[in-house]
This record gives sequence, structure tokens and C-alpha cells, in this order.
Amino acid sequence: MESNSGKGKVVCVTGATGFIASWIVKLLLLRGYTVKGTVRDPNDSGKVGHLLKLEGAKERLQLIKANLLEEGSFDQAVEVCEGVFHTASPVAFYVKDPQTELIDPAVKGTLNVLKSCAKSPYVKRVILTSSLAAVVYNGRPMTPEVVVDETWFSNPDICRENKFWYALSKTLAEDAAWKFSKENSIDMVALNPTVAIGPLLQPSLNESSAAVLNIINGAKTFPNLSFGWINVKDVANAHIQAFEISSASGRYCLVETTLHYSDVVKILLELYPTLQLPEKCDCEDDKAFMPVYQVSKEKARTLGIEFIPLEASLKETLESLKEKNLVNF
Ligand code: NAP
Repeated sequence: MESNSGKGKVVCVTGATGFIASWIVKLLLLRGYTVKGTVRDPNDSGKVGHLLKLEGAKERLQLIKANLLEEGSFDQAVEVCEGVFHTASPVAFYVKDPQTELIDPAVKGTLNVLKSCAKSPYVKRVILTSSLAAVVYNGRPMTPEVVVDETWFSNPDICRENKFWYALSKTLAEDAAWKFSKENSIDMVALNPTVAIGPLLQPSLNESSAAVLNIINGAKTFPNLSFGWINVKDVANAHIQAFEISSASGRYCLVETTLHYSDVVKILLELYPTLQLPEKCDCEDDKAFMPVYQVSKEKARTLGIEFIPLEASLKETLESLKEKNLVNF
């Protein structure tokens, strides 16, 4: 991982302060890249401090102010870059106004970044951080036999009907990105990770780490949900591989395993037998657990991703939450 493949190359990472983006920046710096990271406020030391401390940051990391909702905001950041990792997008599952809080920054923001890329003569490839949420909601019934793959696309109407606003924002953003990149001959690769967990580099809690914190923090029940899990380091590595491997193309689903929360609780108890964890599901009937489904790893493996097992990812998450004083046990 610590190769020198990025020596002499300049790339941009949007939303550099984020959980996934911080790992992308860290791995890029370790590979020798010069990184332009966009942030909303470069003077917010609480948000950017961890980036400035990364190995290689002093010599090769520049933070640039940019906002998804301002047209032209990313021009300066991407101007001389060979690669652009567009990761910035709001992640929230409970919002009052989905249009302004999620959809506008996701869709308009993605188009703003792509417009800046189209203006630059140097950008060779854009890596879009999409989501498995832009893949799975197409109305097909989910069962343990179903294998989701990159040919699946979420249906915006189904997202709207179910009020899956975050999924809608990612679905519309990815769709708009494919249209714009095709019309403007931009070489784009999309990554579709599921819930990412693992060590936090940033000091504050992000939504996907909260998916673990919420069940170890005194909850009485666990949610009746089944979804995929992936280690944030695999997600970050996949982004860089998708840039470096010239034959990479299209979309890549990134899921290590799909489990119901009840099984996640079981693994946590094996790892930490003294943890007080919820014993019951928040569903009325324990037999009506939301079914799991499979997600193909075939294409992701062509990026060289070996998939850190969920047990190790959960352990890393808990140890990291503890180290950051986000949980006490
Ligand atoms: P995160 O930690 O919440 O980071 C989100 C980033 O987006 C932050 O840097 C934030 O900047 C930036 N951002 C939000 N609104 C912005 C705006 N108006 N202008 C500029 N920047 C803005 O989220 P994450 O979990 O790392 O997610 C990063 C990306 O991965 C997102 O595209 C998300 O949809 C995708 N993804 C995440 C997961 C997951 O499980 N974590 C799974 C699949 C896909 P500030 O620091 O200024 O707030």
C-alpha cells in the first residue's frame, strides 16, 4: 500500500474532512501523491487538524475552500489535477427538508465538481463516491438467495415512496454524474460502498460509525435491519485502485458481508463478552427479521480488494470509538 505510485502526481479529494475522504487522503499521501483537499472551512482546526497531522501532509497536502452549492467553487481545486475523488456529499438519515439538506448538495454539488473537471485539460479520471443505496432499491424482493451486482440501479420513485431520502440523493447524483460525464467525455468510475466502519481518523462521529455506536451505547433494542458492511480502509483503497488501474470502468459494489443486526450483536458479544448489548429486536415479531441478501464481490476483487472481515472491522471501530472518547466501556 505504501508504494510510490503517486510520486509527482496531483489529485483532488472533495470533502477531505469526512470519514471516508480522510482515509483516501491518508492513503494517497502514503503513496506519494500531492493532494488538494477541499473543505468548507480550512480554518476550522477542529475539522482539519487530523488531516494536517497525516504523514506527508506538511509537504504534499493543500486544503482549499469549496462548497458543493456554489457554482465554480471547485475550479481552483481541480485545475491542475490528474485525478479527482468526489466524495463530499451530506450523509444523514433523518432530515426535515430532504431537498435542501440532501438532494441539492448531492446532485448540484456533483454537477458542480464535474463541470470544474470538464474545464480542466489535466483531469484524466474522476472517481465518484456513490453508494450501495444507489444500487439496491429497485423493487425486487430481497432474499438470502438474491445476488446484487453492478447492473442494479435504485429506482428514484421507490426511494421517494419509502422516504429513503439519502438513497434518493445518491441515486439522483450518480445518475446525473453518468449523464454529464458521458456528454462531456469525462472518464468516470463510480464506487458503491455499503455501510463503512473501521477506525475513525476524524475526531467527531460520522453517521456510519454511529450505526455501531448506537447499539453499544445502552440501546434496549437493535433495529430490524439487514445491510452490508465494509471496512473504510478497503473503501479508500478501492478508490485509489480505481484511479490507478487504467482498465477500471463503470461501477463497483463494495460489500464484505451482509448481516442482520441480530448477528452483528452476536459478533460484538463474542469480541466483548462484558458489553451490555440489546437482546431484542425493535420489531414486533422476532421471526420477522428483515432478510439478508448477497452482493457480488467479483468486480471489486479486480481492484485487488481482499475485504477485511467484519469481525476485525467491528473490533477496529470499537477500539477507535473508545480512543476518541466517543464511548466508554
Ligand atoms: P462524512 O464523514 O459525513 O463526510 C461528508 C463530507 O461531505 C464532509 O467532509 C462534509 O464537509 C462534506 N460536505 C457535506 N456537505 C457539503 C457541502 N455543502 N459542501 C462541501 N462539502 C460538504 O461522510 P462519509 O461517511 O465519509 O461519506 C463520504 C461519501 O461517501 C459520501 O458521498 C457518502 O454518500 C458516501 N458513502 C458513505 C458511506 C458510509 O457508510 N460512510 C457508504 C456509502 C457511501 P464538512 O466537514 O464541511 O461538513
